[in-house]
Amino acid sequence: MWGELKNIYIFMKDGLFPIFCVSCKKEGTFLCEDCEKKIIVNPKWQKKSKDISGVYTLYSYKEECIKTLVELFKYKHIEELHFLFHKLLLSHLVHKKELFLHYYYIVPVPLHKRRYNERGFNQAEYFAKSIAVALNKEYFPLLERKKYTKQQVKMERKKRLHNLENAFVFNREFDTIQGKNILLVDDVYTTGATIEECAKVLKDAGANIVGGITFARG
Ligand SMILES: [Zn+2]
Repeated sequence: MWGELKNIYIFMKDGLFPIFCVSCKKEGTFLCEDCEKKIIVNPKWQKKSKDISGVYTLYSYKEECIKTLVELFKYKHIEELHFLFHKLLLSHLVHKKELFLHYYYIVPVPLHKRRYNERGFNQAEYFAKSIAVALNKEYFPLLERKKYTKQQVKMERKKRLHNLENAFVFNREFDTIQGKNILLVDDVYTTGATIEECAKVLKDAGANIVGGITFARG
C-alpha cells in the first residue's frame, strides 16, 4: 500500500516538477551518467593548523556541476540530492580507507536549530553518514551549534573566525571522547574557519587527533 502510494507520489512530483541534468540539461536526473563520468575527483589535503591535522577535500568548485549541485542542496533545499552525493562519495572513498584508519568517530559540522528548521535537514549530516558508511566507521553527532551565525559566504577568514567564536559546544549526552581520533565532516571547505572552530571544541573536550573531510572546496 505505502509502496504504491510512494510510486504515485514520485510519478506526480516528477510530472509536475521535472528534473534536469545540471550539466547537459537532459531530463530525468540531476546528473546524467555521461556527465557523471566526466567529473574529475581531484582530492587535496588542506594544510594543518593548531587543532586540525589536515582536511581532505574531494572535488573542486572549478567543476561547475559540483558547485551547482551543492548549491541546489544547500540553498534550494533539494533534499533528494543526498542519494547522488552518497553515490559519489562512496565510489571514491571506499578505495581510500587506508588514509583514515586511525579515526574513530565521524562527526558532522552541526547546524543551528533555526537554520535546520529553515532547511529541513543538515547537509553535513548526510555527507557524514555517507562517509561513515564508505569508511566503515561510527557516525556520531558530537557537536551542537549554540550560536545562530550569519551566512558566511562572502565573509573573509578573520571575520568568519570572529563570527564563529563560541558557536559550537560538545554534546554532553555522549560519552567521553578522551584520547579518541575524530574526523569532522562538512560540505565545503572555503577558509577552513568552521571546521577549525569545531576541531578546537573537540580538542578541548579531550579528543586526541582531529582531521576533516569535505565534499568540495570553494
Ligand atoms: Zn548530463
